[in-house]
Amino acid sequence: MKEEVVIGLEIHIQLMTKTKIFCHCSTDYIGKEPNTNSCPVCLGFPGSLPVLNKKVLEFAVRTAVALNCRINQISRFYRKNYFYPDLPKAYQISQYDIPLGVSGHMKITFPGNKEKRRIRITRVHIEEDAGKLVHESDITSSSYSLSDYNRCGIPLAEIVTEPDFCSPEEAQIFLVKLRSIVQHLGVCDGNMEEGSMRCDANISIRDAKTGNMGTKVEIKNMNSFKAVKKALQFEVDRQKKLLDEGVAIVQETRHWDELKDITVSMRSKEEAHDYRYFPEPDLLPLTVDFKMIDAIRRNLPELPEARRERFIKNYQIPEYDAEILTSSKALGDFYEKAVSSYSNSKVLSNWIMGELIHYLNENKVEIENSPVSPEGLVEMLKLIDEGVVSGKMAKDVFGKMFKTGKNASQIVNESGITQITDEDKLIEVVDKVIRENPKSIEDFNQGKEKALNYLVGQVMRCTKGRAKPDFVFEAIKQRAKK
Ligand SMILES: [Zn+2]
Repeated sequence: MKEEVVIGLEIHIQLMTKTKIFCHCSTDYIGKEPNTNSCPVCLGFPGSLPVLNKKVLEFAVRTAVALNCRINQISRFYRKNYFYPDLPKAYQISQYDIPLGVSGHMKITFPGNKEKRRIRITRVHIEEDAGKLVHESDITSSSYSLSDYNRCGIPLAEIVTEPDFCSPEEAQIFLVKLRSIVQHLGVCDGNMEEGSMRCDANISIRDAKTGNMGTKVEIKNMNSFKAVKKALQFEVDRQKKLLDEGVAIVQETRHWDELKDITVSMRSKEEAHDYRYFPEPDLLPLTVDFKMIDAIRRNLPELPEARRERFIKNYQIPEYDAEILTSSKALGDFYEKAVSSYSNSKVLSNWIMGELIHYLNENKVEIENSPVSPEGLVEMLKLIDEGVVSGKMAKDVFGKMFKTGKNASQIVNESGITQITDEDKLIEVVDKVIRENPKSIEDFNQGKEKALNYLVGQVMRCTKGRAKPDFVFEAIKQRAKK
């Protein structure tokens, strides 16, 4: 059987409002003492009444509009009932049959495709988050778990796609783009590691010939873009193997175990009727004023795609560079801040895409917390332009800047790693190398270019890499011929 992979995503984003969705509790809960950030409303005490935070609605509409959704001017809240220790009310207030936004899309060029493909967004709806369980060990084998209700009532927007992805890689590309969009919208910080953006996936294998869909499996707990790709790939392989062996795939929810790099079965997948949805009696139907939608639409900030085009046009950098630089809002901001005081926009983008991203990844630091600032990077690039350090030396300097947080000139002064600009001094070294290597000079004069590289290398060695290579190259060429 020729198989096709079918993937759909469900993404929860935490909306960056100051207070929770239905009460006045703060949303600033990370790192707080457990169970100190809650009230009768978010804990669902009898008699407490929820009141919708207007900012939540505004942020959710902004998200839905940016994803080209149609906004339902009247939508409804429901109670989604289930028992779980992280949910003190035993129901979650969510939306069901009439969500806030429907029928959206995002256009993406995937690798190997020339044309942009339309990824359909099924719906965008508003709901509240549950609390958090802290497991004694891992979720599948813990003997006890602790409940922390600080996160109860944190506002979420859930974004559901149609099953339009054909590979784990496509799903990952979409997520990176979606994260950049919500960051540019200012509605979510997109931090997957901290859980402010979470992704679940539905995955199945379709028979390419008959079009018959396979059984759908849901994957949860993927906490990074990398994890999404790895977990989905694991699941593709697992399902294909079962099909090859003629074993039926079970409809279930599986958990991505990051330490073991496998998915493990958590529970059989529940159906919508398991949740006994019914309209939330304490909240009126949600009416969205047309004027509000229109105002949000007109005032959308610049989104990553437009920003990418502007980067290409204004800074004359290749599409590839612009794509990477706009893949997160903070990275784009870093570049723009730096380029405002440095004219060689391509050199700048090379350094950001190369050294900076390398060090950030290696040290697991977010660009927002980069020890090297845009101004710091520009200062270092100017030292290269002035000939104080070579490009190669600058890489060392950059590494030290990243590690110590010191600026480039400080590091250069302290360690004395400057380029030798005194040409008479360099000529002395060149002459010495020429005197000591008569065989190489002879080879060079007989047309062996390699000999010249060797001689330049010797000069660089004698000067501990501080000579200007171009100057040395020319000097040897001239003086060898004498
Ligand atoms: Zn509260």
